[in-house]
Amino acid sequence: MSTLNSIDLLTRLVAFPTVSRDSNLPLIDWVEEYLERFGARCRRTSNAEGTKANLFAAVGPDAPGGVVLSGHTDVVPVDGQDWHTDPFELTERDGLLYGRGTADMKGFAAVFLSRLASLNTASMDKPLYLALSYDEEVGCLGIDRMVDDALAHFAPPDFAIVGEPTTMQVVRAHKSINVFRTVVTGRAAHSSQPHRGAGAILAAGRIIEHLEAIGRSRRAEAGESRCEPPWTTVQVGTIEGGTALNILPAHCEFLWEYRSLPDENPESIIEAMQTFIEREVLPDLREFAPEASIETTAIARVPPLAPDPEAKAERWVQGLRGVREGGSGEVSFATEAGSFQRAGISSVVCGPGSIDQAHQPNEFIDPAEIQRCEAMVDDVFAYLCRPS
Ligand SMILES: [Zn+2]
Repeated sequence: MSTLNSIDLLTRLVAFPTVSRDSNLPLIDWVEEYLERFGARCRRTSNAEGTKANLFAAVGPDAPGGVVLSGHTDVVPVDGQDWHTDPFELTERDGLLYGRGTADMKGFAAVFLSRLASLNTASMDKPLYLALSYDEEVGCLGIDRMVDDALAHFAPPDFAIVGEPTTMQVVRAHKSINVFRTVVTGRAAHSSQPHRGAGAILAAGRIIEHLEAIGRSRRAEAGESRCEPPWTTVQVGTIEGGTALNILPAHCEFLWEYRSLPDENPESIIEAMQTFIEREVLPDLREFAPEASIETTAIARVPPLAPDPEAKAERWVQGLRGVREGGSGEVSFATEAGSFQRAGISSVVCGPGSIDQAHQPNEFIDPAEIQRCEAMVDDVFAYLCRPS
């Protein structure tokens, strides 16, 4: 069997145009076949349409403990971006490797897949798990399905490393992301006769004003967090409603989000909003239109990565070769690490490349980052082969 180095693997992975809106199955098929050469026990979990899949692979003994190395397979679109090379063909220029997903985050998967060839599975004391998800970039939609399935079929691991681009620094905490759609349904009437209907836009305005107040209070309470900015943020992104000035609007809907600090319970804001809507807004909306309603649905919920008081994964990963010194950070971008943490696995984010290149045209990775990541993965494998 010819062995592929990390750059070979990255070339293959970048060549699959796994933009989130498209299927990732060709990549998953290829990786699964590759992993089976090493005796990996693979499990797939799919989206409802069967067009995308997660791949979770176990290597080594069927025993508790061990490590998950995790990444997402999807990439953001290149539409409208000014690329100087083919984004889906890994291209070296001036010592840097260009291509969509090189930093975010096929570099990490390329490294763990290539180093697998050097792992002596017979001498492993603890298992290695490799996790590849779908739809991370559109709200971490695939990961929970994979984690649930994995824990139902394999012994629980000790640690998870999510290899998002952190220039090989340990990130121990990040914010949550919570995205909602709120639909206000009132009743149309002549605008001179508001007592015969229910205006959806004014009701929506009250809800939005309350969101703004929550955002302002969170900012006023901002503490020591190293996230940027160091407070929970609240935003409304889109709004639509109404048909004409002289018609009481029967419909208004808006998309909103909040990103809570790592140690804040993300449920607190949605619960406060629901209480405000039910107690304050809905009774007024229903005064002349008992059928009026306000429905809020979650579009994406990405749990925070909360700082682990015992700092188990943090201390362990900080001691691995290739990982940059300088302590652990907190970041504002969200990852899938919170899903592993929620499942009881001590987790950090640490991977090659820079978040500054993520989602940008001419995304690249410095090969020196790949080398650092190889050193880290080799140390992970050494840990798995050491008797505990
Ligand atoms: Zn990413």
